[in-house]
Amino acid sequence: MIIANWKMNGTRRSVATWIEAVTSNINVKNINPCIFCPPTCYLEYARRLIDENGSSIEIGSQIVNYSFEDESLTGGISTTMLKDLGIKYILVGHSEQRNFLNESKNVITKKIEEALDDELSVIYCIGEDIDTKNKNETHLFLSEQLDVLAQLQPTHEDKLRSITVAYEPIWAIGSGLNAEKDYIVKTHEFIKKYINDHLEWGRLDIYPAVLYGGSVNLGNCEEIISSTDVDGLLIGGASLNSETFSKIYNLS
Ligand code: PEP
Repeated sequence: MIIANWKMNGTRRSVATWIEAVTSNINVKNINPCIFCPPTCYLEYARRLIDENGSSIEIGSQIVNYSFEDESLTGGISTTMLKDLGIKYILVGHSEQRNFLNESKNVITKKIEEALDDELSVIYCIGEDIDTKNKNETHLFLSEQLDVLAQLQPTHEDKLRSITVAYEPIWAIGSGLNAEKDYIVKTHEFIKKYINDHLEWGRLDIYPAVLYGGSVNLGNCEEIISSTDVDGLLIGGASLNSETFSKIYNLS
């Protein structure tokens, strides 16, 4: 799975140009979905262009909101609305949402549950900040973020299969400093083992894919994607250029 996360970038024109270029430049393999996450205001437009182009690109939402019972939320977007637009994937727990919007673990849990119940696939983002890394506390930090998955109570256990984890060290996001290969391999190995052993998903025969995100570019993508236990990429800045993103997809 290769994801283009456009964050707060783009226009109608650049969305259209990108979809047209990427559709003709990538060789889509079913085992490696190509997911485009434009800003929310362009989701419907992107969906329509993809349908018209007969493109194999899938659409993902960068956000979803959750409001607790009896609370109204001006500007909110629910999983049901996203499903209605034909959206298949949702990013949940991106560090920018956790930090800037004070997204709590409780809210993240509810968002994932609602998404699964609406049959959407969830990309659950986790990752440590630089202080945690420097204190050698990455595994403890990630285990607390992964424990959110243990709280989930979807209407059916089988829906947990629609979860993918994206490991995105915060210090690597948008900084131009990707994590070293060894660090990525060790961290992905830890994440998979924790989910298998501590969350006991192995007992359910559920082994989520783990993506890497954080300053992936054309120069480092091959080394990262070929690393043990790396099952895909979540790409921010480098995804904005259709040529660069297409090359990264084709190399992955
Ligand atoms: C991201 O947006 O999640 C991301 C990884 O960004 P970048 O590739 O620019 O570091």
